Amino acid sequence: MNNPHYRGRFAPSPTGPLHFGSLVTALASFLEARSQGGQWFIRIEDLDPLREPPEATGQIIASLDAHGLFPDEPVRFQSRRHDAYQHAVNRLLESGYAYRCQCSRKELQANEGRHPNQCRTRTEIDGDRPFAIRFALEDEDCHWQDQLLGPQHQTVQAELDDPVILRKEGFYAYQMAVVVDDIDQGITDVVRGSDLLDMTAQQQQIYRALGALPPRWLHIPVILNAQGQKLSKQTHAPALDDDKPVDNLFMALVALGQNPPANLASGSLDSLLEWGRSNWRRGAIHLTSR
Ligand code: GLU
Repeated sequence: MNNPHYRGRFAPSPTGPLHFGSLVTALASFLEARSQGGQWFIRIEDLDPLREPPEATGQIIASLDAHGLFPDEPVRFQSRRHDAYQHAVNRLLESGYAYRCQCSRKELQANEGRHPNQCRTRTEIDGDRPFAIRFALEDEDCHWQDQLLGPQHQTVQAELDDPVILRKEGFYAYQMAVVVDDIDQGITDVVRGSDLLDMTAQQQQIYRALGALPPRWLHIPVILNAQGQKLSKQTHAPALDDDKPVDNLFMALVALGQNPPANLASGSLDSLLEWGRSNWRRGAIHLTSR
């Protein structure tokens, strides 16, 4: 399959160094792009300095380099894109797709997710209380096709599910920034972990509100530890050993169901990635966990 127009990306949030689960996602998105003769990019989603140790970004980029996963353009950083996000927020506010919300989490919980302050329709806000900006979803029975998981159906509930796009603390939120950047970078295909599957229907509405067509999505099963938890910083997933890129990538190919021949494990990094590219079969990815 050749598709030189393919533009894919790996977009980690730098909450810690790269671990095996994130390597699997990075490799899957890289091989999907490369096997189609497409382009591949890295975007660091560093929107929340409170959750991101300052050294994590450098560690992630060094790890991807050590594993031979080089992007086609310089790495992009969301922390340098605030103007673009503010522009999108203004646009959504002006077109009625976003609103100021002064409700606290407690108030929303006590009111079954409905806004006691009638935020969606209110025009004046209380000048003394901080506010977040939320995207105004439409009620929708959303049907879409995942490139690996097949037909998907998600229900989107207006008001109850409205995601924050600019937090009270002044940080732009993932749900909108990811869409703004994927549009700006002309991303045609998103490959990411299935922990983000549930976000997809909402993101499709944000694409439409910003006047763009959604990309194709492919969600790969998340890697679980021996206790059945997703590998992540919260579950204390160990950092990758960058001195063993061939071992790590060999195991990542196995985790992706690609069945690499044993001799690749003792070969070079280039030959392993080249084998991965020319033998890539997305249909072989195990669907056992989600
Ligand atoms: N930054 C997000 C994360 O690390 C992934 C964004 C995406 O692939 O859509 O969970």
